[in-house]
Amino acid sequence: MNLLTSDQITLARQRVAEDTAARKMADSVCAEATNWLERDDEFIRDFLPEAGVPRTWTVNYTTGCPVHGSGPEGNRGYAQGGWRHDPFVDRWKVTCAIGGETYPSNDFGAFYRTGMQDRSLLTGPHADDGWGWQGKETPYRHWFVAYCCEHIWQVVVSGLTSLSQAYLLTGEAKYAHKALVILDRLAEIYPDMDYSTQSMYATEFSPGYDGKMFNLISETMNAAQLCKAVDAVRDAIPADPIFAATTEATRAKIERGIIGASLDGIYGGRVRGNYGMHQEALLFAAIASGDQREMDRAVAWVLDNTGEATLLKEMLTSFDDYVFRDKSAHAEGLNFALDNLIFREGIGWESSPSYNSGWVGHIAIIARLLEKLGVQLWDRPKVRRMFRWATEMSCLDKFSPAVGDAGGALGGLTEFSTAALRTAWMGTEDPFIGELLRQRREEFGSFEELFEELPSPEPSKEGATEIKQLKDIPHLMGGYGLALLRSGRGKERCALSLYYGRGATEHGHFDRLNIELFAYGQKIIPDHGYGEHAAEGDIPAVWTKNTLPHTTVVVDGRRQDTQGPGRLVLFKAGPGLSLVEVDAPDTYHSTAEYRRTVALIEMGPDARYALDLFRTAGGDRHDYSMHGFEGDFHTTGVSLSDPQAKGTLAGEDVPQGAIYDDDGLVDPLRKGRSYYTYRGGGYSYLYDVRRGHPDGPWSASWRDGEVGLQ
Ligand SMILES: [Zn+2]
Ligand SMILES: [Zn+2]
Repeated sequence: MNLLTSDQITLARQRVAEDTAARKMADSVCAEATNWLERDDEFIRDFLPEAGVPRTWTVNYTTGCPVHGSGPEGNRGYAQGGWRHDPFVDRWKVTCAIGGETYPSNDFGAFYRTGMQDRSLLTGPHADDGWGWQGKETPYRHWFVAYCCEHIWQVVVSGLTSLSQAYLLTGEAKYAHKALVILDRLAEIYPDMDYSTQSMYATEFSPGYDGKMFNLISETMNAAQLCKAVDAVRDAIPADPIFAATTEATRAKIERGIIGASLDGIYGGRVRGNYGMHQEALLFAAIASGDQREMDRAVAWVLDNTGEATLLKEMLTSFDDYVFRDKSAHAEGLNFALDNLIFREGIGWESSPSYNSGWVGHIAIIARLLEKLGVQLWDRPKVRRMFRWATEMSCLDKFSPAVGDAGGALGGLTEFSTAALRTAWMGTEDPFIGELLRQRREEFGSFEELFEELPSPEPSKEGATEIKQLKDIPHLMGGYGLALLRSGRGKERCALSLYYGRGATEHGHFDRLNIELFAYGQKIIPDHGYGEHAAEGDIPAVWTKNTLPHTTVVVDGRRQDTQGPGRLVLFKAGPGLSLVEVDAPDTYHSTAEYRRTVALIEMGPDARYALDLFRTAGGDRHDYSMHGFEGDFHTTGVSLSDPQAKGTLAGEDVPQGAIYDDDGLVDPLRKGRSYYTYRGGGYSYLYDVRRGHPDGPWSASWRDGEVGLQ
């Protein structure tokens, strides 16, 4: 055992014996593991499909069931529901939850047993050879078998995880035995798994999209999980009657096939997540290997890997001014990342607070693993700073500004997990982190925590004061590019955020100088946030990323040209007034000035004004876009027409959601360009249009009975 010490195992077993929460966790692990004890070894070996059977997380990315379509929930992005599959009842058949019919029409198991060769077995109206059935209604195939296959792998990994965990908690050989049967077979398959040649997504949507058993992002967690399972049970090989005769050979086979293949996958770029995910997986794999050379290599890679960006040319690849560089940047070593990919507030460069919060959780684990390997990260100032930014951008203790792919119109608060705070507190004893941790009540947030000491920090005045200073008064995050104007106390607290940071990543939006307003416990001027998933699909994710849905100015009816940061001109706060001014003239190529001045002004205990001056020079047309909250809407000083009966704001003949102003993107199959490169305006997403021409001053109001915005 390389990942856990015998003291840690003793501690976990003791907790399971004495503590209700720990016992509950152990019971659920053992219950799932017990299901696998009843399955015989040969069945389990056969249950794992060959690497060559394709995989997908959804049957059809665009249209759902061949007969019933997508069902009431629709199927935008990942949300295609309505498929049932129980691999222990019918391994290769998926059932439509709407009509109850099953697919495919052929017996794929029989075809599989011919080595996927005998095509006379592909019978019936919806035959699937593993690569999907092609209907006439849609250019995309229905991947019935691949859906079953990916689900089978989820079930296998979940079973393997429970079996290895049950063995850790009980020491009973029966659990280790079934885990070893899975690992012994998996070691023959895992090295050949390649999502870029064996998946729906790489075949139909994103050529070359990597991964192994699962997509490249999920694979970081999967690889780590598989390596943990190997580490947990391999000591049981010598005592196991099936494997005992060839103990060394079995051990070597499993280590090579799983740990070795994981290491290769990570170094080779097939296992890659957002920052920290693959670095964490790499350290788990290297420590599990027990090989000092692997550990040294992994530490060097995690700290100092560089140059992949140049190798893959991604740093240089620019589509229509949109530069794709995340994947390579995410492989840069921590020493580079701490200086160059993480702003001075400790927040990463993914623009979106929720994606950036992932960095913090993973880097906390990386710091803990590096500590075991003799490298100290906790005393780096930016690592400590990393645990503060979620607090400093919080508004009303309830919201984080929905910058980029984060949050939604009604809410969304980014916080770090209890496990991350515990790990950080153990590493730093920083009073600020200790105070955040004291606000959490959770016990054993994860299985891993059963094996860790759980610290309970003493109350700290210093920590509590710092928290208050960061979240209750006007605050500027000048590196990240977020100004937070705040006023009032208690229920009357009010906050206004202005984002002007660098957004040039896959999870950034074209949202320069966007504002959000928070008051009376709700979002008064909300942002759409993460409305459309970032994955490239048939339905183009071009609306919530675009400029128009944000509260900012659209020039010449097109999205902003760049995602570069603005320049702070002024940030001031005094009694009753806080104010920020930012100029971002490079936002549009055509603008010489693109400047916003926003002030939050207290007029009395229950009344505040937000003053918004937006100056734009250059371009022919300037559209000021804003929206209020859900409520009654009224105007004074201007009368509005009846809603436009046909079409959208883009025109009476332009249907809702049409890409009417960027020809190269019209046909998804032949688009040749990513939807990220859409440079149109998105005016076709606004319908029921009402128009008015005011003669003088006018106003509009939103009211919901309790709260009003005028
Ligand atoms: Zn159906
Ligand atoms: Zn946005």
